[in-house]
Amino acid sequence: MVSLLGLEKFAQDQLSQGHHTFRLFLITDDVVPLRLTLRLQEGFHSHDFHGEIIGEGSGVKKTVFSFVRDGVPFCSETVVLCSCGSDQFFAGDAESFIDDFCEEGVVVGCCASCENNQVILEYS
Ligand SMILES: [Zn+2]
Repeated sequence: MVSLLGLEKFAQDQLSQGHHTFRLFLITDDVVPLRLTLRLQEGFHSHDFHGEIIGEGSGVKKTVFSFVRDGVPFCSETVVLCSCGSDQFFAGDAESFIDDFCEEGVVVGCCASCENNQVILEYS
């Protein structure tokens, strides 16, 4: 079993200042690795994310992360892959807050195969 505490620390290490949160992506009551599909909307550019992440596992498919803008078409869809070739991740997002204002955030994943922690998405 991979260390989810390690993943939380890895996520928070990507963020600079402020109060940090962490949320593990869960689509069932059990913690299972997910296949993640990153769907971007038109107009996306680095650090200004709009789109969503779909998680699939245990026969369930759900949106686990979403900053969707109404009426904007989706322009790309990518399955997140580890450098080892696996598409199974324990994943979650962390955000840093200063005075209740979200400064920046990161989506991270721990590969279920090689257990490498990696940044999937950064936004601010
Ligand atoms: Zn891997």
